[in-house]
Amino acid sequence: MPTATKTKTQEKPAPKSAPAVLKQFIAGKWADGTGKRRVVSTNPADIRVVVAEGQGGSKEDALAALAAAQAAYPGWKKTPAPARARVLDKVVRLAREKKDELARILAREEGKILPEALGELEKGINLLEWYAGEGLRFMGDSAPSELPHNLLLTVREPLGVVSVITPWNFPWAIPCWKIAPALVAGNTVVFKPASNTPWLAQELVRLFEEAGLPKGVLNLVVGAGSEIGDILVEDERVQAVSFTGSNEIGVRVHTIAGRRGIKCTAEMGGKNPAVVWEDADLDLALAGVVKGAFGSTGQRCTATSRLIVHEKVYEQFVGRVVEAAKSMKLGDPMDPKTGMGPAVDEGQLETDLSAIAMAKKEGARLLCGGERPMKNGLQHGWFVEATVFDQVKPAMNLWREEVFGPVLAVVKVKTFDEAVKAANDTKYGLTCAFYTQDITLAMRYVEEAEVGMVHINSPTIGGEAQVPFGGVKGSGVGDREMAKDGINFFSKPKTVFLDYTGQARKSNIY
Ligand code: NAD
Repeated sequence: MPTATKTKTQEKPAPKSAPAVLKQFIAGKWADGTGKRRVVSTNPADIRVVVAEGQGGSKEDALAALAAAQAAYPGWKKTPAPARARVLDKVVRLAREKKDELARILAREEGKILPEALGELEKGINLLEWYAGEGLRFMGDSAPSELPHNLLLTVREPLGVVSVITPWNFPWAIPCWKIAPALVAGNTVVFKPASNTPWLAQELVRLFEEAGLPKGVLNLVVGAGSEIGDILVEDERVQAVSFTGSNEIGVRVHTIAGRRGIKCTAEMGGKNPAVVWEDADLDLALAGVVKGAFGSTGQRCTATSRLIVHEKVYEQFVGRVVEAAKSMKLGDPMDPKTGMGPAVDEGQLETDLSAIAMAKKEGARLLCGGERPMKNGLQHGWFVEATVFDQVKPAMNLWREEVFGPVLAVVKVKTFDEAVKAANDTKYGLTCAFYTQDITLAMRYVEEAEVGMVHINSPTIGGEAQVPFGGVKGSGVGDREMAKDGINFFSKPKTVFLDYTGQARKSNIY
């Protein structure tokens, strides 16, 4: 188990500033959690610094949040959708005003470098904005009837109380893309963020409060998932669960929701390939692969973790990837010179280092990285070097299992069929990239790829508010997120048969 090291060399003392105070937000009131454990959020780049702290939530807090959401539901459901959306409009405005401050919180709490943190802020704001527009388009359909003087209509309705359970790696954007459609569709929400990124979650909820969201419509419970997670899925008041996180917890959540017969979407892991073909623009591919593999310290469900390179450009291209990885500057996420931040916490660092050790043991060749740096102040954080292995075999763990860190597995291929086989050789199916200048090959790859999202000549990462986001196979189950799909998940159609003369059915079997 890696531990933070006490160094005897001359070190700058840990910067001191008072930690933010973490609270629960239930029925419109901020209150201390009543759980036994404290939630302590540290800066992963310097774990001597506590950035936020408070008493964790208990089962009773989770139950109180559900009761508050249940009580607020009838009023919120009756609020016209355009009026619901106007609250989101205000959140958009407030978030834009506070964007820099929120990005700094994100960088300090999760460890993303500041430009990436600003990118995540912008993405979340885009999502809020897109769903604010959906308030004016919360529409059903009409259809011709088999009968004369009859009209068939559908109207969309909310589901009721819904649970939103989110991971730490996109602690702003993921809650935005779940909470926004849930609220616009008229549901009330209990939100449980990951317990290692509670501060930013709290700031998001504050924006909704400031925007005038009625009490109880959005509730926040902060605490360990093992203690309060099950309640947010099992409780009979919960009508849907939107989860993003690991496969282990996602499958558990989906199983419980299935047993209860409620809607559930579970977005889970990825093992995403980038294929670089012999005719690819190698500068473009290099930028995309480096960003995909090492951006956000590889802690993205959409990270590029497998690189498949055509033999004709293999030596040249992989050599350039290794050079880029070696020159990646690790450091304080707030420093503009930093290229890659730390792992989010000790557990994730341990996962990264174990995956590296296992890859070595299984016979993959380490081309660069592989170590935890222990000097120049980096020993105070959960840093790991940008790491590249080649000679990776399909049976190896590094090819099969998600690491969720900056560790890239590389293989060489000769033919298109070999590339497709390698890319699809995974239990996951979230996203992939293909770099080529041959449109026929690109479109053949689009046909063959077993994923939810394909990128041609761009990195495996990213998504936009107006198109669906999600995966196939082990990467996700349930409806897609974002776009119209988000609204559809959080609502259901009610079919109306409107017989406006009352005569048609007298003489008809329909
Ligand atoms: P995690 O599964 O450990 O935790 C996710 C959330 O579930 C947290 O809020 C956690 O507290 C909660 N939780 C824990 N136990 C629970 C229980 N028994 N019942 C209900 N909730 C419970 O995941 P993580 O470590 O926070 O995030 C990393 C994982 O998320 C990676 O596998 C990554 O691929 C995945 N991820 C997927 C996507 C996607 O869209 N596909 C996006 C981001 C992250």
